[in-house]
Amino acid sequence: MQDVVIVGAGVAGLCAALAAAPRPVLLLSRGRDGVESASALAQGGIAAAVGEGDDPQAHAADTFAAGAHHNEVAAVMSLVQAAPAAVEWLAALGVPFDRDGRGWRLGREGGHGRARIVHAGGDGSGLAIVRVLARAVKAASHVRWLEDWELRGLGVRDGRVVAVRARDAGGHLQEFRAAAVLLATGGIGALFGATTNPPGADGAGLALALAAGAAARDLEFLQFHPTALAVPEARPRPLLTEALRGAGAVLRDDEGRPLMAGQHPLGDLAPRDIVARRLFRHLREGGRCWLDATALAERLAAEFPTVAGICARRGLDPARQWLPVAPAMHYHMGGVAVDADGRTTLPGLFAAGEVACSGVHGANRLASNSLLEAVVAGRRAGAAMRAAPARVAAAADSVELGVGATSSDLTRLRRWMDAALGPERDAAGLRRALTCIAADVGLAGSWQGRLAGRLLEAALARPVSLGAHFRCDGISSPEAPACPASRASSR
Ligand SMILES: Cc1cc2nc3c(=O)[nH]c(=O)nc-3n(C[C@H](O)[C@H](O)[C@H](O)COP(=O)(O)OP(=O)(O)OC[C@H]3O[C@@H](n4cnc5c(N)ncnc54)[C@H](O)[C@@H]3O)c2cc1C
Repeated sequence: MQDVVIVGAGVAGLCAALAAAPRPVLLLSRGRDGVESASALAQGGIAAAVGEGDDPQAHAADTFAAGAHHNEVAAVMSLVQAAPAAVEWLAALGVPFDRDGRGWRLGREGGHGRARIVHAGGDGSGLAIVRVLARAVKAASHVRWLEDWELRGLGVRDGRVVAVRARDAGGHLQEFRAAAVLLATGGIGALFGATTNPPGADGAGLALALAAGAAARDLEFLQFHPTALAVPEARPRPLLTEALRGAGAVLRDDEGRPLMAGQHPLGDLAPRDIVARRLFRHLREGGRCWLDATALAERLAAEFPTVAGICARRGLDPARQWLPVAPAMHYHMGGVAVDADGRTTLPGLFAAGEVACSGVHGANRLASNSLLEAVVAGRRAGAAMRAAPARVAAAADSVELGVGATSSDLTRLRRWMDAALGPERDAAGLRRALTCIAADVGLAGSWQGRLAGRLLEAALARPVSLGAHFRCDGISSPEAPACPASRASSR
């Protein structure tokens, strides 16, 4: 029986690899042990209605509200109902989720009406989960994991994806026959200047799926996290988890005034798009934004060791001083269009996790729903791949990712992406970025340039503001505060 091939070793790829058993799996990933993934950087945790008095309906209501009701209803209901069992499954596998005398110790994040976030190691949730999953995958006899391999192309026969072309660390290209292929390659933050994403989140999997003709969905919806530490030179920018605000930290301006006062009924815990836009505008007007976590002084070391470490490495003391923050590109709601089992529109090709879009996150993802989606969708896709044909014929054609941009080309691309596809957009800025990329010799023929073009076109095609897609020159959604259009159009 031929292998199914999974590309990517974040939470989605690792969960899929386990769920595909007993089908033989070939797992290919950049980096080793899954630790170079966005999954390993996750701090806050996994959302699930496991608290006393909570229920999946309430989780769903918060998901719809954060997503500006652009969410796919069936996908949301299925995700929130699967959440408690997903957490139990991870715990049974050995993930050391934090508990207190009454059960799970729950955190609260933006957009959630109550504490609902299960976490591990305080704010070290992602790494704790990845370590346990990677250990389980390495122990699984049905999985062969090739680390430090780079996806380069797909092999196709009669319209079906039947192979993966990948390159090892020595530059050697190989084709692997595949009864089915799952892309679990994560997000696209590395295409932006200010991002919380790791360098490997460059969108290669998405670019290749689109080049092969797979349908895309909601590409214009990008989430900016409001509280990345404002250290402009850092790639990625260190994240200060929203759970800090859930525990009582406050966003302030230079004078100490609460930045979210009067902006939204949930104040500092408003959905991310709303908080990010508020900070983005304040910074554009010349102000500075600060996260005041001094009230948590006694709790930082035990409950937020990752944040405490980030600050200590930069000589900052969050127990005594406010931390400078700015929004940074964080998560892609859009991606390769998939059904409930991760099937794309191309036979033989599946996608799960951040690279995919089932519509579950709508126009703005609810905090801590993405690790949840990576677990649930990854496992569903892995299970669905068990039914792939026993054997497929050799590829007759190939679709290549193509030439990549150089690092100086990427620096220019990131500048245009930051300017045109930030928390606020307008047609003039989007068209300008498209024109600049098309006229740029280094970028126009690169796969990154082509992918950027698809994102910009998607944003142009939606003239109305919705969730995280805010058009200064369009019609605002009811919850979004009015935009100072004159300043925006002169950007
Ligand atoms: C700093 C940070 C904090 C976050 N905190 C939370 C949180 O608390 N809760 C939450 O729900 N979400 C959080 N998120 C979002 C969440 O972590 C991600 O959306 C989720 O982990 C994505 O999982 P994934 O498996 O789809 O992709 P990833 O975890 O990014 O994994 C992608 C994998 O694909 C590999 N890959 C990529 N391209 C290629 C290629 N061309 N060839 C071979 N391999 C490739 C990568 O190396 C990696 O192994 C956070 C994100 C960040 C960046």
